Amino acid sequence: MKEYELVSGLETHVELSTKTKIFCSCSTEFGGEPNTHCCPICIGLPGTMPRLNKQVVNYAIKAGLATNCTINNIAKMDRKNYCYPDLSKAYQVSQYDKPLCSNGYIQLDSGKKIRILRIHIEEDAGKLVHERGDTFVDYNRGGVPLIEIVTEPDIRSIDEAIEYVEKLQLIMKSIGVSDCKMQEGSLRCDVNVSVKPKDVDTLGTRTEIKNMNSFTFMRQAMEYEFDRQVDLIESGEEVIQETRRFNTGTGETEGMRSKEDAHDYRYFREPDLVTIHTTDEEIEEIRATLPELPDSKKARYIADFGINETDAKILVKYRKVSEFFDAVAEKVNKPKTVSNFIISTIYRTLSTDDEREKFDIKVSSESMTELVKLIEDGKINNNLAKDTLEKMLQNGGKPTDYIDESQMGGVDEGELRAICEKVVLANPKAVEDIKGGKGAAIGALIGGVMKETKGKADAKAAQKIIREIIG
Ligand code: ADP
Ligand code: MG
Ligand code: ZN
Repeated sequence: MKEYELVSGLETHVELSTKTKIFCSCSTEFGGEPNTHCCPICIGLPGTMPRLNKQVVNYAIKAGLATNCTINNIAKMDRKNYCYPDLSKAYQVSQYDKPLCSNGYIQLDSGKKIRILRIHIEEDAGKLVHERGDTFVDYNRGGVPLIEIVTEPDIRSIDEAIEYVEKLQLIMKSIGVSDCKMQEGSLRCDVNVSVKPKDVDTLGTRTEIKNMNSFTFMRQAMEYEFDRQVDLIESGEEVIQETRRFNTGTGETEGMRSKEDAHDYRYFREPDLVTIHTTDEEIEEIRATLPELPDSKKARYIADFGINETDAKILVKYRKVSEFFDAVAEKVNKPKTVSNFIISTIYRTLSTDDEREKFDIKVSSESMTELVKLIEDGKINNNLAKDTLEKMLQNGGKPTDYIDESQMGGVDEGELRAICEKVVLANPKAVEDIKGGKGAAIGALIGGVMKETKGKADAKAAQKIIREIIG
């Protein structure tokens, strides 16, 4: 059998976190009683006039800049005609041939760039709810602003597809244009998949799997679709260009409808909205509001602070975590201590993704800074700091609420050495054991040092010195 390769391009819909909808002043808040966040404009009554929300344009431009796109000075809105009850006016206002942003990319960790063809703005449709043997329509989501980010078919594996979406999600969250919650549908992917023999350049016929809203399902759907298409080709049949849905029950993709071509939508200019003009000056103003992006942050943590790749990745994964880290890191000598505390002690109290995302902890960055400074000034050791941090995480407050004067003061290097020498002399049996290969016996000596220093010594430093003394 020939070796086949997967080819994929993604169309990702991201709901923008503006307060109000794209063409009216209704709330964009998720949920709510059905049809309560609605008005004549967003349920599409004839004769109503849309007014474009400026913040939508600004957020889309921000998204474009953060993904290396060119921002087009002139853009316009178009009507995409289709008939389905989730959109009662029978057209979606979107952008066709003049999108706001084009020609960007997102770079994967391998260095490979996944090119972004375009980013355009559009309105979301309502939601069909199938219940009690009936179908109901909830228009709360109708008119919520979306950006659609379309890639070139540059993706060559499921892992690349997932990494691309993870990066996109992180970028959008960190620039604050969306919360990108897949489970709430504020980030959804249409996954286009085709296969081709590895040694051939021409792309095969693709299918489009609609509305993937979890990484697990996306992976399953792509695996299934790849196998299905390879089987078809191997048995001499053809892949039909069509839209498919993923059945989460069976783990299979199913045909929904044959794929529409652009001309089926009979796109034409939205006559009720004016051209969107954006000056270079306005673009630069928006660029100036961009925060440091996750990948450059990660690179900085690795290069400047000596933090390893895995840890740096976990720190930048959640916006609030990296903000907390940054606030402490800039005030202490060794930011690595802070990252260790976050990843070990703090993350232990925040076990889910959601909790880490919210990062609702009782320790302020000021208290954390104080704690790390106490270590750096040699006033407390790591163990005491860890215990204190645990107490602060439970009950709030600052380090000195938990550490009393008598525990502070620490042990300086010379003093520690003297105590170690004393303990080594007093415990010949343990020394003998260590020399005889029983490494664990060092525990007894460190215990002795801790006793002498009332727990103030740094165990690691003591161990190092004891090893030097024993030789
Ligand atoms: P439409 O908007 O009608 O779905 P586009 O031509 O804009 O169609 O392409 C949609 C997506 O399909 C793009 O992300 C593109 O990268 C992807 N795509 C195009 N051709 C292929 C292919 N042969 N295999 C996989 N993906 C493809
Ligand atoms: Mg499509
Ligand atoms: Zn409305």
